[in-house]
Formats: sequence, structure tokens, C-alpha cells
Amino acid sequence: MQSNEQQPERKTLDDRSRMTELERIRHSCAHVMATAILRIWPEAQFAAGPPVESGFYYDLELPHRISPEDFPQIEEEMKKEIKANHPFERVVVTREQAIKDAQSGRLGGLSERPGNPSKFKLGNLEDIPEGEPISYYKNGDFIDLCAGPHVMRTGNIGGFKLTNVASAYYKGDERNPQLQRIYGTAFKNKTELEAHFKMLEEAKKRDHRKIGAELGLYVIDTEYVGPGLPLWLPKGAVIAEELEKLAKETEFAAGYVRVKTPHIAKEKMYLTSGHLPHLYKDSMFPPMELLEEEDLVRRHELEAKIEMLKRTGPYFDEGNPPTEDDLEESRQHNKSIYAALDEIRALGTRYYLKAMNCPHHHRIFAAQPRSYRELPLRLAEYGTNYRYEQSGELFGLMRVRSLSMNDAHIYCTPEQFAEEFNAVNEMYIKYFKIFGIEKYVMRYSTHDPSRLTGDNAKFVNEPELWNQTEEMVERVLKENKIPYKKVPNEAAFYGPKIDVQVWSVIGREFTLATNQVDFAVPKRFGLVYRDKDNTEKTPLCIHRAPLGTHERFIGFLIEHYAGNFPLWLAPDQVRVLTVGEDEQLVNYARGIVQELRANMVRAEGDYTNDKINGKIQQAEQAKVHTMLVVGQRDLQAGAVSVRVHGKGSLGAKPKSEVIANLLADIRDRVA
Ligand SMILES: [Zn+2]
Ligand SMILES: [Zn+2]
Repeated sequence: MQSNEQQPERKTLDDRSRMTELERIRHSCAHVMATAILRIWPEAQFAAGPPVESGFYYDLELPHRISPEDFPQIEEEMKKEIKANHPFERVVVTREQAIKDAQSGRLGGLSERPGNPSKFKLGNLEDIPEGEPISYYKNGDFIDLCAGPHVMRTGNIGGFKLTNVASAYYKGDERNPQLQRIYGTAFKNKTELEAHFKMLEEAKKRDHRKIGAELGLYVIDTEYVGPGLPLWLPKGAVIAEELEKLAKETEFAAGYVRVKTPHIAKEKMYLTSGHLPHLYKDSMFPPMELLEEEDLVRRHELEAKIEMLKRTGPYFDEGNPPTEDDLEESRQHNKSIYAALDEIRALGTRYYLKAMNCPHHHRIFAAQPRSYRELPLRLAEYGTNYRYEQSGELFGLMRVRSLSMNDAHIYCTPEQFAEEFNAVNEMYIKYFKIFGIEKYVMRYSTHDPSRLTGDNAKFVNEPELWNQTEEMVERVLKENKIPYKKVPNEAAFYGPKIDVQVWSVIGREFTLATNQVDFAVPKRFGLVYRDKDNTEKTPLCIHRAPLGTHERFIGFLIEHYAGNFPLWLAPDQVRVLTVGEDEQLVNYARGIVQELRANMVRAEGDYTNDKINGKIQQAEQAKVHTMLVVGQRDLQAGAVSVRVHGKGSLGAKPKSEVIANLLADIRDRVA
């Protein structure tokens, strides 16, 4: 779950060749923006201008602080450049030529600028490896050091808009100068551009932080609990529990078994998994140091020993110069003191808050001898993990420090892999149907064979296993016609990875969940099963979490449904409203509430004497899913008048029929 827009790694030529049409448009628009800014402020110095998730930016240094008030002027100049329809021309140059042009201020400029060299371009040149071609892209008078690719002409940029200004350090390093970062976005045409901003406007209305507060779903109590640690209020907890119930039922039917594990583990766990000492250290909370009673006893002994050694050490003075033997004894003496001090320092155990559930599940696998007959073994748990995210990165429910994960680990043989992996995919698709998620794609990340060894190593050095598992995964995706996008070089360190990206109803993209294939960590933990031929073999492990974490998934659902949850998920499912407070009528209404609650329906009554229209309005405002209005006529007929939030009145129906329908809709999780 890492997405960091701050400083993308330098793109390789390979990455660049895969830039999509839209990314090319956006990156080209960054050049057009630079052209426009230079027309207004010719002294501007540009650094880097890549496409990003929903647009592009360009970093620049300029004494004038650009503010959104400047955007119309810049956009005017950009329109001129687009209208001129200049071609983007690529020129390959030698390094010497590039350095010369940068020194003359020509790169990232409209002309030579004596006394104002293109200093950031000079720095960027240093990052281009020997042997990689050095190229310029030229549109009109503007020349930039750039590996491309670009669209053919500036006129190919159909619609664009500048959106934001921020600051950033050159190359993301705070020791470097601080630059202004101007953000914008661009699309093939104006229609798409307008649709994008309409979507953003709609997303703002549906902001999970706003609706979450309005509906009383969660709070983040930074003062007493801490940033990034949401507290689920009763109405939010209801949604979390409904999701958990869905997961438990689905997983039970699919042959999973449930486990429960503690929230902490010894350092040894993560040293074994490989998350420590380096790989994952920055994402984990700092350790807790614990001295057990026996450690304290030992510390006492050692301290006493040190005291004793200090008292009995050899003593020399001018009248009593040491011999060689004396010196040797003294050295031994000091050595013993240092050894005792070292032992004191090493006493105790470091515990970590768990940042992932896998190692705990691995130890459950290892808890007893396993036979091939037990495989596939599917261990499931809604486990809570703690990850250290920098406070500036925290964002409502979407970026948090405590996460309840719909986790499971499937241990299987290589022969079972395809079927298991496919069953996981089918589970995803089943969930997508329930939640009305129509657009999704599996982002399939593979390893980079050049990064298995050496200083730059990023993946476990098991070339055979990488090839085998990647081949298996891709075959399953293809055979089952699952939409996927291949992304090289982004696998987990222990195996290929699939990030599931979904689009909310308003067309915003979310990464909700990850599937990973792991052929390395079970080996590190020494996990084995006894196979048919009586030999010990290491199982494959599939990590999967289709519903992601409660935090992110509920954040997504709030936007997706705009807070109007379907009946089965709605915190307030039913409210029975009386027309007046006649005793008989109230008793009738109470009976309905009781019957519903006896069937686990979240029902409540509003029996006040307020006007019925006011009561309905209140229930609508609270997004109560179904309102059952009862008046004298309903009482006589044994009926209720049904209203559904956002849909209005559905008319009067027999009470028993309405209750039966509600129960069936909840059971079937009707959308
Ligand atoms: Zn470029
Ligand atoms: Zn896992």
C-alpha cells in the first residue's frame, strides 16, 4: 500500500516506452507549461516535470512566487503554444554538447541565457547513465533535456488546466534548493477534462471524512489516541462487523479456517521473515524493549560482578611499576568487565507491533507437523496491523497507522496453485458484484531479473522460482480472462504481486487490496509438509485480502455509496414512525421494532407527537435506509407504509410481508 507521489524514482528507458497515451499528453503539457512560464518569466529555471497519477507537474526556481492568481495568465500563454501546433522534435546530442547548452542556459529555456546556466539540467545530466542516449525535445523555441516520449504536436493536447502549486526540494532532497511545484492536468479532449473536474467535485461532496463525521462513523482522536488511529463509533463498527460477517461466510464456504494471533511478536520473527533489519524497518513502529524477571536477576549478578572486578583489579603506581605479566592480567581484567557490560546491554527482548499478519500465520503452520493431505491450508484472520506512516502522509481512513485486514494465507503445493489462485480471483469478483463495483483491473507486478543480486538487489535470489510462479500467475489471469496490467520491477521481495484497482461509482480509482505469491518466506521459516513420496517440501503461500482493510474499504464505500449504504450495510436499517402518539398505535409500532430487533435488524422507533413530515425528514437526513410509517389506517389493516431513503414512498403493505422482505433483502445483501 505504498503510493508516494513525492519523488518518483528516475524512470528507466523501459518505463518510458510504456508511458500511456494519456501520460504522454500530460508530460507534453508540462513542456507547454514551461514554455508559457518562460514567456512571462524568462529567468525561470526548470528541474523535473514528470506525469503523475492524475496529471503532471513541473518544478521550477523563480524569484516570483507563482500563485493560483497567475494561472489564467500562464494558461493563456499555454493556449497560444497549443494553437501554434508546434511539433515535438527529438534531438540526440553528445554529453559534451548537452553540458555546453546547459551552461549557456539554453536547456529548459527559450533561448540562451548568459549568466543564468540551466543548473538543474546540469544536475539531471549527471543522473543519466553512461551509454544511455541524451536527448532534447523541442517545441517552438523551447528546448528541454528529456528522454520523452511525447505526443506528436502541441496541438494534440486537447484540454488542460493548472490545478495547484506546492513546494518541493530538488531531487526530493532537503539539502537541495526548494523549488516551486506547479501541478496541472491534461486530457485528450475538453469533454474528458470536464468530466474529470465534475468527478472531483462529486468526490468532494462524497469525501469520506465529511460523510464519516456527519453519520458518526469514526473519529480520529489525535490528542489521546494518536494520529492515524481511527476509533470506530457504533455506526462505523456496525459496517466493519457486517463486512467481517460477509468475509467469514464467504471464506467458510470456500474452505478457510480461522485463526487469531497477538498484536506483537519478537524481533526474531521479523528478522526471519526478512522484514527486518532493513526492508520494512521504516514502516514499523519502533520496538518495545522488555526485561523479563530472569533478565533482571541476571543484570543484578552482572552488576555485582563488575563491582567486584573493579574492586579487585591490579593496582600500579610509580613505586610499583607493572611487569609484562601484570599488564596481561590487567588486560584480562578489563576484558571481563567489558564482557559483562556487553551482556547487560544484550539482555532483554525486543518486541514489535505487527505490521503484517503473515509471520504469525507461518508460525501457526509450523506449530504441528503437516502432511500433503492437509493442503491447501487456508488460514484466515481479520488481523490488526500497525504501520508507521509519516504524519504528513496520513489521510482520513485512507492512510492510517492501524489497519484491520481481511487477511488470509493459503499454503498449497505447486500443483494446487492454479486452482487456489483462481478461487481467490473469483472471490474478488463475487465481492465486486455485491458492492456494485463494475470497473476493476488487476495490476500484476513482476520482478526484475537484473535486481536479484548486488547492491541494488530488490528481490530474493531465486530466479527459477520467480520464472515459475510468474508464469503460473499470468496463465491463470489469461485463462480466466481477468483484466490485468503487467508492471515490471514492482513485485514484493518474495514473489509476484497483484494490486487490485477498482473504480468507485463516480469513476475515481482506488487500490484496495493486494494478492501476493510467496515462495521465499515459507522457506525462511523452514515450513515444510510431508509429501506423498515421504519427502519434506516447502509449500507455496498465497497472501490475499480481497476486502483490503476496514479503514480503506469503508473509506471507499462511503464515497462509492455517498453514505447511502444498501440495507444490509446501513448503520440505521429501519425506523418505525408513528403518526401521532396514540397508545395503541405506539404499541403496534413497538411490536414491529421488537420483532425486527429479535431478527438482528437494526431497527428503532420514533413515537413522538411531532408532525410526521418532520419525522420523515429527520430519518432521511440520518440516511435511515427504510422508514415504516404507521397511522390509524395501517393499525386497523395490520399494515405499514414503506418509504425507502432516496426513493420515496412505496405504499402500504401487510406488516408480515414487509418484515419478511426486509429479512430476505438483508440476508441476500441486495444492493
Ligand atoms: Zn519531456
Ligand atoms: Zn501476508
